[in-house]
Amino acid sequence: MNTRYRFLSRSLLFCIACLVTSSAVAQWYSFKSTAMTTDLSLEFWYDSATDAENISQQVFAEFDRVDAQMSSYKPDSELSRINNAFVSEVDSEVGSVETEVSSALFKVLTHAIEISKRSAGAFDISFGSVGYLYDYRAGHQPDAQALDALSSRINYRNIKLDSVRRTVRLTMSQMRLDLGGIAKGYAVDLGIEVLKTKGIKYASLSAGGDMRLLGDKRGKPWLVAVKDPRSEQQHAVVLPLDNVAVSTSGDYERYFIAENGERVHHILSPATGRPAKGIQSVTIIGNEAIETDGLSTAVFVLGVRAGLKMINKLDGIDAIIIDDKRKMHYSEGLMAP
Ligand code: ADP
Ligand code: MG
Repeated sequence: MNTRYRFLSRSLLFCIACLVTSSAVAQWYSFKSTAMTTDLSLEFWYDSATDAENISQQVFAEFDRVDAQMSSYKPDSELSRINNAFVSEVDSEVGSVETEVSSALFKVLTHAIEISKRSAGAFDISFGSVGYLYDYRAGHQPDAQALDALSSRINYRNIKLDSVRRTVRLTMSQMRLDLGGIAKGYAVDLGIEVLKTKGIKYASLSAGGDMRLLGDKRGKPWLVAVKDPRSEQQHAVVLPLDNVAVSTSGDYERYFIAENGERVHHILSPATGRPAKGIQSVTIIGNEAIETDGLSTAVFVLGVRAGLKMINKLDGIDAIIIDDKRKMHYSEGLMAP
């Protein structure tokens, strides 16, 4: 080979190496973790393996942070601080204690109450007043007497927020708040914000039944499966989607079958303090996961008719409901014109 050729072939090799390294580095990265008692799953397109790992840790850290603030199970969380202040109160003093909270918790509480108003109280974080009496793992539910006594404590109107002083006040004794129906969605939104600040344009982040997609899958849609509520292996439907939040609430996530054969699951009707009936799963598609998370729980409680009526009034939000006869129902935005 003459020198000129040798030079050419060497530079050609160099260029191929450049191409190989640049395309080898920009790739899909995926990470898994667990937090808030669910599996977290993250996938994104990025160009550095070391940074990708680091970014995934920052995203997952948001879930631990939200959990530490908003878990009703953690005795030292901010939310427990509110609950303890009021549970220990005597009736005559109720309403006089105010708890100042972080702006993050205040934001989630504000959102939760908005969803309560929109859903005529079907979504109500004060369901926690009876929610803590259920132990799904141990197969335990409260007796009728306890339920009847405490379900009067479920009423979001008795949660008073002061946005100037950022305080929360509960106006009844024995009220407890539980953010299990909305906090995970909020954490997903925070995780997506982390990805955006890193310049990431294509990503999928899911936490159990709540997920958010950033962009598409580089030229094609993400495929989001709605589970068959009665079969681990089957999907009810697969949706091609991009740039949306998707949340599913189902009666199969946390439940046990009682002696009388009834399915005792974790989505409670605020009116009775007992598991809501009529639906197996609700999937909501919208923009932010804090919204889709709360709404999926709300529609589950409302039932097919009232649930679809609420969703059809909301811009940019859609729903897929699987009822207790396994029939599927779609909101107007998902139906062919
Ligand atoms: P997950 O994503 O944990 O399966 P969902 O979004 O399906 O949760 O909502 C169910 C959770 O919402 C329950 O585990 C409970 O913490 C909470 N929850 C149950 N009933 C209600 C209700 N009526 N209003 C608000 N939150 C509720
Ligand atoms: Mg929810």
